[in-house]
Amino acid sequence: MSKYEITIGIECHVQLATKTKLFSEVDNDARDKEPNTCVSPVDYALPGMLPRLNQEAIKLAIRAGKAMNAKINSYSRFDRKHYYYPDLPKGYQISQFYHPIIGEGFIVLPDGSKVRIEHAHMEEDAGKLNHYDTYSLVDLNRAGTPLIEIVSMPDIHSAKQAHDYCKELWRAMTYAGVTIGDLYNGNMRFDVNISLALPGAKELGKRAEIKNLNSFRSVERAVEYEYERQSKLLDKGEPVRQETRGWNDATGKTTFQRSKEEAQDYRYMPEPDIPPIRLSEEFINEELAQVPLLPQDYRNKFAGKIPEDILEVLLDYPQLMTKLQEVAEPAIKRVANWFASVLLAEEKSVEMLENLPSAKQLDDLADMTEKQELSSTGAKEVFLKFFDPQMGKKDAHTIAKELNVIQENDTGALEKIVDDVLADPACAQAVADFKAGSEKVIGFLVGQVMKASRGKANPGAAQKILREKLK
Ligand code: MN
Repeated sequence: MSKYEITIGIECHVQLATKTKLFSEVDNDARDKEPNTCVSPVDYALPGMLPRLNQEAIKLAIRAGKAMNAKINSYSRFDRKHYYYPDLPKGYQISQFYHPIIGEGFIVLPDGSKVRIEHAHMEEDAGKLNHYDTYSLVDLNRAGTPLIEIVSMPDIHSAKQAHDYCKELWRAMTYAGVTIGDLYNGNMRFDVNISLALPGAKELGKRAEIKNLNSFRSVERAVEYEYERQSKLLDKGEPVRQETRGWNDATGKTTFQRSKEEAQDYRYMPEPDIPPIRLSEEFINEELAQVPLLPQDYRNKFAGKIPEDILEVLLDYPQLMTKLQEVAEPAIKRVANWFASVLLAEEKSVEMLENLPSAKQLDDLADMTEKQELSSTGAKEVFLKFFDPQMGKKDAHTIAKELNVIQENDTGALEKIVDDVLADPACAQAVADFKAGSEKVIGFLVGQVMKASRGKANPGAAQKILREKLK
């Protein structure tokens, strides 16, 4: 990526984790449900049905506002956005156009750069069309699902940054409890606007919008592909058309869907069936106070205590952050390491994340390791046993004892073992070599001590005693 400068703005639809839909009382979670079983007359637009606003959705929108460092508007309102499509039986979507609930905000990316949020509004989702050979079927399970649409400013300038922005937004929204964040089931969907221009150009180039991306990786790949596609056009002197494109994950390409040359007229008008939302300061503050620590708070909290690269990996798992917060100060770094290099490396890590050891167990394990009562291998064994259905509830010391991995730190006992090793004829040559100045044989001798102790000697202590006795 060199000749042209890329400018990216992202719109993200977030499905709110309410129990029921935005304007009706049916289940909001349609995963694994038969088509058209989560619908009410409001969702399929029976004439005369009136929407009733779900207050829980308002509360989650307030949380979302906090998670994106935004102003919550005390006055907001719903509007009708008119268009016709078979998955939208009303003929309009209830959205917020003139007065969105969330004002300007920003998201800080892991590299410290800032992406500004223009605004975020609430709206209902439409249904879904399922296409078959010669016909299509409508499924209205999603119709009326509460969403917030988060609109960023065009502050993003690389594929990597686009990836990081989407991921950070996902983290912020899941930590704040706004959404379940199930990307596979479309809980967050990204529309990515991409344009190119020569550096220093006064105006942004014509943009293409890539619709409905549902993974961070596909966002990154779609941006890379569009950069290539658009720069080839510009190189040839051909115009980039303003259009909507789709993403094909299998081919790694974007494809033309429809032209956007003429802006569609949605004939926005205030929704007459839902009164404006007026939020008291008290109501807003009460909800803001419910928001737990966010990714950025954890970065600040653990700065200097957990290496940055490890912290960034762990931040994908809110339950690990909660646990680390309960762990005693001196144990934090060790526990973070076990999480990153042992737990997350396990095949069953998803299950394990739901079944974390207690802070006390982890504190004790870190303490034993610190005192060299456990080798790093021994500590890892004990750590894994915490997840064992039979042994998992026992404390670190009991498990270590049962596994027979407590290191021999008793100097008297160790000295005895060292004496035996040094007296062993099989070691005579090594002893002679060491005395003649060969440093590297010390490793062999330590190994012999470890063997004689059946792995329980502390190698550091063994080496120290060996050196003293060989002087
Ligand atoms: Mn929308």
